[in-house]
Order: sequence, then structure tokens, then C-alpha cells
Amino acid sequence: MRNTTDVVNAPPTLFVNAAQTITCAGPARARRGGEMRDADVRAGVGVAVQGDRITAVDTDDALRQRFPEASEIDCDRGLLAPGFVDSHTHAIFGKARYEEQELRATGVPYLEIARRGGGIHSSVRDLRARSDAELFALAVPRLARLAAGGVTTVEIKSGYGLSYADELRTLRVIARLSDALPQRIVATCLAAHEIPFERRELADGRTSWIREIIDTLYPAVADEQLATFADVFCEPGVFTLAETRELVNGAARAGLKAKLHADELHDGGGAALGASLRVMSVDHLAAISPVGIAALAASDTVATLLPATMLFLGTGRQAPARALIDAGAAVALATDFNPGTSPLQSYPLVMTLAISELRMSAAEAWIAATVNGAAALDLAGETGQLAVGFSADIAVHSVDDFRALPYWFGERLCRVAWARGNACHPGL
Ligand SMILES: [Zn+2]
Repeated sequence: MRNTTDVVNAPPTLFVNAAQTITCAGPARARRGGEMRDADVRAGVGVAVQGDRITAVDTDDALRQRFPEASEIDCDRGLLAPGFVDSHTHAIFGKARYEEQELRATGVPYLEIARRGGGIHSSVRDLRARSDAELFALAVPRLARLAAGGVTTVEIKSGYGLSYADELRTLRVIARLSDALPQRIVATCLAAHEIPFERRELADGRTSWIREIIDTLYPAVADEQLATFADVFCEPGVFTLAETRELVNGAARAGLKAKLHADELHDGGGAALGASLRVMSVDHLAAISPVGIAALAASDTVATLLPATMLFLGTGRQAPARALIDAGAAVALATDFNPGTSPLQSYPLVMTLAISELRMSAAEAWIAATVNGAAALDLAGETGQLAVGFSADIAVHSVDDFRALPYWFGERLCRVAWARGNACHPGL
């Protein structure tokens, strides 16, 4: 819990000399529909940081008058922005899965690769064979690469353990990363990622895993405070609507908030179920139906879109971002960083895809990447805005216009990133 006196007494640092500042300031909640068009772009505006908080947003001159003793970070006529919130990653894994990209290119679909014991099952076998120290060491440079793109908050899911012990072990590695790194890390238990391969041939394999998750694992995760969220892969061929409902209700009884993977490859009604269960976000949605779109637009559930995944899978389709926003839904963006379907550690590329593939405006993409990403993690009052009282989660990019970051795609343009008042790039 922050202490207001400590923040006021902390030596101030000013971010000044920006060519442009995009604050994304406004209500501390998900922005919906037309609200996403206003990202509050200004000129000549800097930010004061004391401790882990933003304590002023004003003209450079006003900041220097108010804080004459402050040290300064020179934005060098770059873009001053909130740090990105990457609200959907699977960053704890062992080996890469190069072979599947080629398999898919020859026409073998993802669910078929998984059915043969590849896909997620190969990541599960691999993770189970690795030590906690190895998993930790593999994750650190990945998180550094995300930070190098301006990401200051990262959600990380378990879900390659798929046993009681290996799911807890994964979540404990995430907790250690959270303690060790400056970025804000939010943990999600994705034990309901798939039915473990070794249980698939058993008569009660499905039900026994679901019961173990609900009766044993969720309570243990909550007891040890290892995760904020539980996530369920609600998709035809993975978890059914009825199973998803049971898992979300079980998570709620344990004190975990819920998120869903839903309607990624087939419309299974997952988005509408998520809205009716009031989960924090439903993610993917490339196959969402008009009914699902209407349900999300009428709910508080954030629609998190993962355009890099659809690009990498080569499906030739993307989530209907335009229809979601025009219907009044709140849209967020994330990398879905994972070894099978989105080995992407560059958040700015997601911004590019949001505009070029999802047909979002640049302002909508920025709101989706900051405020709405925060809302997808129930952090809309904490991060995602350059505004007084918010966490000092700040990025400076070497471009002079907020539209230039998604435009110059493939470049590494983030000069500086701070999370919770500490440098996370460069410096990890
Ligand atoms: Zn995912």
C-alpha cells in the first residue's frame, strides 16, 4: 500500500522535452465504442514522477517551476506515452516449436497438431522436465524484450504444467519474476488450458481434471495468493460451455477472477457465455458471432484481440474489431506471446496489426493498448494513463507522433520505459 507522504517527499523526476505526449487520460475504466477515439494527444506536456506515482502532468515550464530541484529525463523530441499493458501472455515455457509453423504451412490445422500430441502437449512435456531455475532464467530475457518495446505491465498465464504440482510450480516462478523485475506482473492460472494428455484415454479423464482444478488447485492457488485470475480455454474440442461455466464458478468460489480464451477458431458461444458470467475479459474472438458481439457490447467484459496470433497461424482472418467497437464494446490488444501460435515479443507490432489488419484507428489502438489492457486486468484505476495519481508506468519512443509508432513497423523505437517508478528499459 503506498504512503502518500512518501510519494510527496520522494525526489521528483521530470519527463520533459517531448515532441508529443499521448496521455490516454480519462475515466479510470474500460473505454467503450466511440470513447476509444480520444487518446488525449498534446504538445509541450511533460510528466512529474515521485516514488512510484505520477504527481503532475503539465507544460515543461510549469513542471520546472513547481519542481525546481527535480532531475530530468530528456525525451529528446520523442513521444511520451503510458507504458503498454500486455494483458495476455504465456511467457513461461521451455523450448520453441519451430516445426509447427512449417506443418501448418503444409495445411495441418492447429487442433490436429494438438490431437497428435504436438502443440500444447509438447510444451507441457518440456516444461515438466525443466527445473524452476531454468524456467525463471528463460523468462527473464523474454520479459526484458517486452519491456524494450514499452510494455510495463505483463499478464502471464500458467497452463503448460497441466498437473497440480506443475501448475503451482509455474505460478511460483511467475511470483519470483514479479518480485525480481521492475515490470508489474499479473498472474493467471490457466490449468484449464487443455485436458492433460495422459488423462485423455481415461474414462473419467476430463471430469477428474476439472474436479481437481476446482476442488484442489484453485483453492491452493488462492491460499498462496499465486494468481489474480483463472482462465479457461473455451473452444469446441477443448472445454465446453458447461465445463467453462463450472470452472468459472469454481474459480469465483476460491476468490479468483475469471478470463476466457473464446471463439478463437470456431464460434462456440464462448464470448456470450463470458459476458453472462461477467468475466473480466474474453480473448481471441476471431470467430465471434453477431450474438457474441452484441453480448459483449452490452456487458462490462473487455474484448481482448490478439491479431499477431491470427497472422502467425496464417488463417487469413482476424477478429471483427470494427464491429465490436462500433457496437460499443471495449477492445484491448495483447501479444498472446507463446511458443506455438504467437512467438512475438514486440508489442508495437500488435499496434501495427490493429490498424492494418483490424482496421482500428491509431487512437483506438493506443487506448486498447493502455487503458483497456489495464481494464482487462482489473487495473484501470492503477495504470494505462499519464494522469495524476496513476502508477509511474511510462514509455518514451523515438518518434514525434503517436501514429508513427505503428507506422514504422519492425523498428525498435522505445528509448526508455519505467514501471512503478523504476527503469525497466534499458537496464534489465
Ligand atoms: Zn492465449
